[in-house]
Amino acid sequence: MSYISWFNNHAIKHKKIVDKLLNKNYTQEQIVKYFDFDNMVKNEVKFCPLYKKNTKCHDMESLNCYLCACPNFRFNDEGLDIYNGFKILSKCEINNGEKLKAKDAIHQNCSSCNVPHYEEFVVKNFDVKWKKIMCKCYTTKV
Ligand code: SF4
Repeated sequence: MSYISWFNNHAIKHKKIVDKLLNKNYTQEQIVKYFDFDNMVKNEVKFCPLYKKNTKCHDMESLNCYLCACPNFRFNDEGLDIYNGFKILSKCEINNGEKLKAKDAIHQNCSSCNVPHYEEFVVKNFDVKWKKIMCKCYTTKV
């Protein structure tokens, strides 16, 4: 699956849940709490393939799924840049995480970084429109 199709599919899933909560007059605080992993794994199983296995993407006591992906993530399936002959397809704007070489491309590896999954970070960057928070992720420039 390309980055952009994952991104657009995820935006649709995220909007569906948020619209449902807004229709129930949920406050910002209630929406953020609703996206806590322990609640999502029970009530929104289709949101993340890991939920079926009751598995978290990061080893954290309390993990919030509202900002899955990350506002610091940058991607372009055509390539953001070239490094040693490898296309860079994704990277971290704040240089966290690691790089992953696969075939002829370099990808951002976020597996060691918990930044977007802290509730405080979600509250600080909150908007009911996930794509608005992620507006810098899909980019053509490095
Ligand atoms: S490494 Fe962390 S901060 Fe950077 S894009 Fe990945 S999750 Fe976000």
